[in-house]
Amino acid sequence: MSQKQTLSFQAEVAQLLHLVTHSLYSNKEIFLRELVSNASDACDKLRYEALENNALYEDQPQLEVRVAFDKQARTLTITDNGIGLSQQEAIDNLGTIAKSGTREFLGRMSAEQKTSATEQGQLIGQFGVGFYSGFIVADRITVESRRAGLAPELGVRWTSGGTGDFEVEQITRPERGTSVILHLREDAVDYLSTWKLKSIIGKYSDHISLPILMRKEEWKEGENNQPGEMVLTEEWETVNQASALWSRPKKDITPEQYQDFYKQISHDWEPPLAWAHNRVEGSTEYTQLLFIPAKAPFDLWNRDKKAGVKLYVKRVFIMDDAESLMPVYLRFVKGVIDSADLPLNVSRELLQESRDVRAIREGSTRRVLSMLEELARLEKDESASEEDKGKYARFWAEFGAVLKEGLGEDTGNRDRLAGLLRFASTQSDLPSVSLADYKARMKEGQKAIYYITAETLAAARNSPQLEVFRKKGIEVLLMADRVDEWALNFLTEFDGTPLQSVTKGAFDLGELQDEAEKKAAEDAAEAFKPVLAKLKEALKDRAEDVRVTSRLVDSPACLVVTDGGMSLQLARMLKQAGQ
Ligand code: ADP
Ligand code: MG
Repeated sequence: MSQKQTLSFQAEVAQLLHLVTHSLYSNKEIFLRELVSNASDACDKLRYEALENNALYEDQPQLEVRVAFDKQARTLTITDNGIGLSQQEAIDNLGTIAKSGTREFLGRMSAEQKTSATEQGQLIGQFGVGFYSGFIVADRITVESRRAGLAPELGVRWTSGGTGDFEVEQITRPERGTSVILHLREDAVDYLSTWKLKSIIGKYSDHISLPILMRKEEWKEGENNQPGEMVLTEEWETVNQASALWSRPKKDITPEQYQDFYKQISHDWEPPLAWAHNRVEGSTEYTQLLFIPAKAPFDLWNRDKKAGVKLYVKRVFIMDDAESLMPVYLRFVKGVIDSADLPLNVSRELLQESRDVRAIREGSTRRVLSMLEELARLEKDESASEEDKGKYARFWAEFGAVLKEGLGEDTGNRDRLAGLLRFASTQSDLPSVSLADYKARMKEGQKAIYYITAETLAAARNSPQLEVFRKKGIEVLLMADRVDEWALNFLTEFDGTPLQSVTKGAFDLGELQDEAEKKAAEDAAEAFKPVLAKLKEALKDRAEDVRVTSRLVDSPACLVVTDGGMSLQLARMLKQAGQ
């Protein structure tokens, strides 16, 4: 392919481009974060491939990113000497969207037509628009690249105005790696400034472990009474800290730096609720920097979603979605694990079997649970700020339902997870009742923690099954999350007290019933015997048993499930699923 080729963007790309250029106006500067992060990814990829083939470094072992601008030409150029792109890779990676998550995202965006441009902007920002964010500030982007290991003549120039199509042609490019040249729009000329660019790099890209270089500026006196001005010199200087944030001592990192780092890796626009940064020593050595987001991503419910923890080995990036580092029910956690022990060429398969990885996962899981316990503790801490007090409730509203999956998934931590659960109840409209709160309020003689599951909280609250509990002032936990039914199967007791569904079986209110009530119930059972026999006969294919009950106050009858049977809600769910 030596002549120019014009190709069309995949439909989804065109859609994404339209969204990007129309809804990210309020947060234009993120384009630089995205392009620098791509440059850094490209260097990571080179380093990784070079583990097997050192020749890929050619004569340039020092990996770096350069940011340069040209006021006359109105261009801003981000250059890296990373892995580069072959022609086919340029066509594939810059013209189509390979990631299934992106499609899902776009589907959702068009399904929610009504969201405002700002909301869309936030959503896209969260998603991470990547390369195409360049079109927020540029009306044309040219990419020139040569893949490491290919001959100089096999370079590629890709160019597009960000509408329906792009052009590719072969070029000769002696330097390995990629230059992204942004032809800035008229309203984006303020990015042609060293000061402005440095401040954005400082904000978003300080922690990037590669040096980011810019030309030094120098003051030049004006001639013939003209005012002086800053001019660019030929000398380059490093403008970021260029050390991985997590490898620095905690005391040298400000909360803002942690938050900016979080925003960088998560694409979230809200600061995280909590983070933990630790060097773990012992038989397995690693550094963990883990964040609890304040906001759930749109695809939280996708259990196949990529995990949010990046794996590094001795500062070298290894992989993005190392699912073996976190259990699935903690898939909302973002962060970095940097291992000192794993081999650099570790593969996914190896990760799954590695004892070190198991130790890391267990350690990180415990760390996350401690962070959550700390947030939960703050809720009740008189000396905590209002903001801190509200954090656990925010966490629970976003991620509570996911955390419940852990009851089934992580038996080893079941007790700790049980302590973190929160529910609405007959005494609390808000989902804020912990099992410990419940226990502290239990009536004298009450032997179980009672709960009811239903399709909605309102349905749970209005269930006739609750009549007797209301009458006796016994609290019942209300559950309506889809996972509740399943998750509660794994939690039979809390701190020595059994959990009991009020829709299951003939239960014994025991000492909560006074003598007169017991007597009345027995008498009733006796008196209704003939009626029961008739009912049983009439319902014989549909009900296993018909009993007189003391659980109702106003309603004449209700359905219950035999002990150990499926509860009503689960039965309904299975029926819906066609089982
Ligand atoms: P992401 O970075 O999440 O993969 P982007 O939209 O940012 O998505 O980039 C799309 C793809 O384009 C990247 O996955 C990569 O293959 C390619 N790419 C972008 N920038 C570069 C670069 N500087 N060097 C090499 N490849 C790049
Ligand atoms: Mg990217």
